[in-house]
Amino acid sequence: MTTQLHVLNPATEEVVATVPGATAADVDAAVTRAALAQRTWAAAAPADRARLLRRFARVVDDHIEELALLEVREAGHTIGNARWEAGNVRDLLDYAAGGVERLSGRQIPVPGGLDVTLLEPLGVIGVIAPWNFPMPIAAWGTAPALAAGNAVLLKPAETTPLTALRLAELALEAGLPEHLFQVLPGTGPVTGDALVTHPGVAKIVFTGSTRVGKAIMAKCADHVKRVTLELGGKSPNIVFADADIEAAALAAPMSFLDNSGQDCCARTRILVQRTAYDRFLELLAPAVEKVAVGDPADEQTQMGPLISRAQLDRVRSYVPDDAPALRGTAPEGPGFWYPPTVLTGLAPDAPAAVDEVFGPVAVVLPFEDEDDAVRLANATDYGLSGSIWTRDVGRALRVSRAVQAGNLSVNSHSSVRYWTPFGGFKQSGIGRELGPDALTAFTETKNVFISTEG
Ligand code: NAD
Repeated sequence: MTTQLHVLNPATEEVVATVPGATAADVDAAVTRAALAQRTWAAAAPADRARLLRRFARVVDDHIEELALLEVREAGHTIGNARWEAGNVRDLLDYAAGGVERLSGRQIPVPGGLDVTLLEPLGVIGVIAPWNFPMPIAAWGTAPALAAGNAVLLKPAETTPLTALRLAELALEAGLPEHLFQVLPGTGPVTGDALVTHPGVAKIVFTGSTRVGKAIMAKCADHVKRVTLELGGKSPNIVFADADIEAAALAAPMSFLDNSGQDCCARTRILVQRTAYDRFLELLAPAVEKVAVGDPADEQTQMGPLISRAQLDRVRSYVPDDAPALRGTAPEGPGFWYPPTVLTGLAPDAPAAVDEVFGPVAVVLPFEDEDDAVRLANATDYGLSGSIWTRDVGRALRVSRAVQAGNLSVNSHSSVRYWTPFGGFKQSGIGRELGPDALTAFTETKNVFISTEG
């Protein structure tokens, strides 16, 4: 039975669109069509594939403002962020196109013959995306997969299918072969599960919660299906007393409030060396208060609403009514609003200090010395990102080596660049996206030995 997805504007609660969800039968038909399109695509000259992907990038570039406004309406992202996100899709397509003609195997010396490795496309790839960054995350899987000669079936999140559907139209406008890149909106248990369990889908690229990621990995085992998982995070922001405390305090709010805290890399555990703790809080309090929360379409807005009422309820459930906190402001509603909040005085094992809240809520905790900072930073099942603020280069390197996370930044909160690898340690995921090896993750290595004796 077809499910109807009602897409709401999270800033107003108005229905933006109603989209039919794909059934398991729709997924099956899409896999058959994609497999046919993939064979022709893989056989095409690399230069031709690269040219088409660059053309797709140009068409996206011509529609940045339209895509950004759609993202504002369906996801509540600030217009500035939404423009960056649409630009990220264009940049990824260009970067992946640059890799098409450089994707090559190796020749390895062997006695008695010639040995070559071939990098072959996997076939049909299922990309399952979350709602927090609908466009970039869809493109992180899609662009390198197409570039490496695969077809892509993309399932966007229930709440945010519109930009993905528009990207599929733009792909056709750019001249990409029909059925090579298809978007299948729908629910996780129906449409997502049909992709995960379909024997014709060679790999699943899943970005979402650790809970769902684990279930998907288990199901992929049935077919030994390849899988890349980009899961949750609870990233530390470690501030040593020798750091530029003012710079660290002023940068801290947007490191967990960007995208209303619905960011897998959000620095939601602020760890501050005890000797600098009071000074840091004095500077942090006004910086949190003055974050501009409101209409995401307004150019001045820094933080918009949460995605849904369910997410708002989840965030509220993590903040005890009587908890001491630094707070900002937020509109009353309609819309799914929650104010910027930094919880002070919580125990390190309180739920808000341990779980991924996925909202504009951080905790601040003191630490004594370097060992204590590393111990606290690593006291989590997650390992996605983290920041280290210090003026001591040796300490920056020591702590970077000791923190178990895939993406660290020193005196900065930058985690994502399309040309550097991104992914998680521990239960934050498996595999890497982006960066110079992004295309290789969508290939199978075949070794061929040709005898020269005989
Ligand atoms: P979610 O796990 O609920 O859903 C993600 C996607 O999986 C959606 O498209 C959903 O429909 C689908 N899905 C749900 N159940 C499924 C099933 N049984 N089979 C197949 N597909 C299924 O996550 P969410 O709430 O949309 O996103 C938030 C989560 O994503 C957070 O935990 C966040 O940290 C994580 N995230 C991680 C990264 C990263 O790169 N590591 C990036 C962004 C978001």
